[in-house]
Amino acid sequence: MKILVANLGSTSFKYRLFEMGEGEEDLLAEGGYERVGDYGKVIRDALSTMEESGAIGSQEEIEVVGFKTVLGRNLSGCVEAGDEVLEALEGFAEVAPAHNPAYAAGIRQFSEILPGARRVALFETAFYQWVSEAGRRYAVPKGWHEAGIQRHGFHGASHKFVAERSAELLGRRDVAQGVQRLYQDGPVETERPLRVISCHLGGSSSVTGIRSGVAIGTSMGFSPQSGLPQNNRVGDLDSGVIPYVMKSLGLSVEEIERQLTKESGLLGVSGAGNDLRDVRAAATGGDADAKLALELLIHETRRWASSFLFELGGLDGFVFTAGIGENHPWLREAVCAGLEEFGLVLDHAKNEGCRGEEGEISAESSKVKVFVIPANEELVLAREVYRKVSVLN
Ligand code: ADP
Repeated sequence: MKILVANLGSTSFKYRLFEMGEGEEDLLAEGGYERVGDYGKVIRDALSTMEESGAIGSQEEIEVVGFKTVLGRNLSGCVEAGDEVLEALEGFAEVAPAHNPAYAAGIRQFSEILPGARRVALFETAFYQWVSEAGRRYAVPKGWHEAGIQRHGFHGASHKFVAERSAELLGRRDVAQGVQRLYQDGPVETERPLRVISCHLGGSSSVTGIRSGVAIGTSMGFSPQSGLPQNNRVGDLDSGVIPYVMKSLGLSVEEIERQLTKESGLLGVSGAGNDLRDVRAAATGGDADAKLALELLIHETRRWASSFLFELGGLDGFVFTAGIGENHPWLREAVCAGLEEFGLVLDHAKNEGCRGEEGEISAESSKVKVFVIPANEELVLAREVYRKVSVLN
């Protein structure tokens, strides 16, 4: 079954085409466009490119299009991308302005361009549907809660991939199989718990606590603006700051929103850029602000990782994933520093040698196994969409 995974940004369109079957997962084609103004045009262009390259004989061969939707109002999970999904995306367009309008437009375009293909959405929030109520609730008035003000969580596809792959690497087939069937069957009891913390550190970052393949909580809350400091977004911020800044600096809500989502995070603190490589280069050159930005990212990663330890009651696996997590051994070293008493010890040579590839980087003596697991969100999407469609058929 040919499944096209569509990754839509506010000005970008990336795609991967998979051939999926029982025991079969092949990547047939991939590509992308930047500075997109007209989604219809680039989607048609991508389909022609796939035909010309021979990846597909004809466009009708694409049976399903999968969408990595971010946040829906009153809707989550892996669901058919019809009117209900469009409504849910539009209902929270203001909370995820870079993503929701783009996905709504993309889903509409695909329904016109490939009317015969099924459309399935996997929400990034889906992985958090079993987080306890206390873990999801903000202590806001009931009316706010009823209006949807709660912790949603994001990067669900990435953390789910880590949940499954880390279980395999830790020799827990039972948990890995449970993760595969999680969205169809819900959580299954395992005889022994498996306790994992997953650090997705990239342009946008989050830390998730996972018990036996099921998320118990994550650093991102209501919107993707929360949690760790992001490339140019603020991360966690005391709710008292906004009214104070409005009154004392005379900034409008729109201006505050712009500065917190475009001029904050690593960029805001360092002034050196929003890519970790640029911030690191400035810090190495002696720039104190850049050094502080790095320390802040490390500090917040450790703070969030430790926040899940009590609830997990111990730790079996600690995982780094995404662009920063996969490629910066010095940062992994700093995040894991001084944890020998907790049973977490890195192997320095293995850590240094592991860049952009999967690897175990903990010392032989380490009770907690530390892994680098390259992110593969598109594959998670293809797998989930395939399972969903197989159930529907
Ligand atoms: P996004 O979150 O936008 O999908 P990534 O997961 O690739 O992007 O994360 C981007 C961050 O990861 C950047 O700060 C960049 O410094 C870092 N990064 C990505 N790839 C590499 C690489 N090959 N080498 C070093 N750093 C990288």
